Amino acid sequence: MIIHLEPNIQPGQLAEVQQKLTAHGFTSTEVRTQSHHYLVGVGKKPIDIRVIGTLPGIQDIHRVSDGYKLVSKKWRVQDTKIDLGDGVGIGRGHFQIMAGPCSIESEEQVEAVVKHLVANDVKIMRGGVYKPRSSPYSFRGLGQEGLQMFHQICREHGIRIITEVMMVEQIAEMHDFIDIYQVGARNAQNFNLLDALGEVDKPVLLKRGMSGTIEELLQGAEYIFSHGNEKIMLCERGIRTYENAYRNTMDINAIAMLKKMTHLPVIADPSHGIGIRAFVEPIALASVMAGADGIIMEVHQTPEKAASDGQQTLNFVEATEAYRRLRATRKLWEEF
Ligand code: PEP
Ligand code: MN
Repeated sequence: MIIHLEPNIQPGQLAEVQQKLTAHGFTSTEVRTQSHHYLVGVGKKPIDIRVIGTLPGIQDIHRVSDGYKLVSKKWRVQDTKIDLGDGVGIGRGHFQIMAGPCSIESEEQVEAVVKHLVANDVKIMRGGVYKPRSSPYSFRGLGQEGLQMFHQICREHGIRIITEVMMVEQIAEMHDFIDIYQVGARNAQNFNLLDALGEVDKPVLLKRGMSGTIEELLQGAEYIFSHGNEKIMLCERGIRTYENAYRNTMDINAIAMLKKMTHLPVIADPSHGIGIRAFVEPIALASVMAGADGIIMEVHQTPEKAASDGQQTLNFVEATEAYRRLRATRKLWEEF
């Protein structure tokens, strides 16, 4: 059960609601986000929610019996929109492409990608400075210094930054240099990291774990939301299955399902989703038709020379064509 409290609820009124919940066999957790104040009630006994809903200080009340609650579409029917300023929005009808290399490598590389994005009216650049690599001997990123250079160049051109955060300690030092924190598949259930991201005032893109279920992804988002941050996007990036003809199995189903289950924007990552350059664009187009609110994909001037994930990275010519088709496909989807 979600009880949406009035912003000016008095302490005595709050205590009364909490006591009523306890009396009906419900435990309650107070959640104060950057924009709202809630009580989340968990209990098994049947209850007439009007008993609670008519108490003073309550804006509205909803029955949500799933394990994830605040991120559920059962109580908030209007989709969440992530606002990045200057008309750049994601969700609630707003579609965005995020593109850039797997890893930030050099100033020349960032300059080339930024120029390419500006020419194609892409507003958000991706690029990791802390790279979670399967092997400790692979390139692990340029770190904070690389991030500052990345930020400097992007800021000059009005490009927003999405980049991965791997540890709680990195959150604060990255804060002023990024627009969206990315939580990678390998950290999808790092609950300490998710809790800490609940305390920041910047959007978070949470990727699905390699073997994570849709419910686990939603529960991960619930950690961030219930710690105070409502600005969350979910990302389908392929899961590990018995199939090994490609890197991961892009679960297009999940995009359609998530759009039904949650009010949060859903982003598709076809690059990691299939892991093969030639198929990134068709899988991206399929994701748009499944209802994705955005696409994040890997793009590099010379993918053959990329420090990581070159095999799934588009060059500028391929990417330019992909953006055109993505936008045309999105238009088609909107007309449906
Ligand atoms: C990435 O975006 O480069 C990345 C490491 O993704 P994932 O966490 O989905 O593997
Ligand atoms: Mn990558």
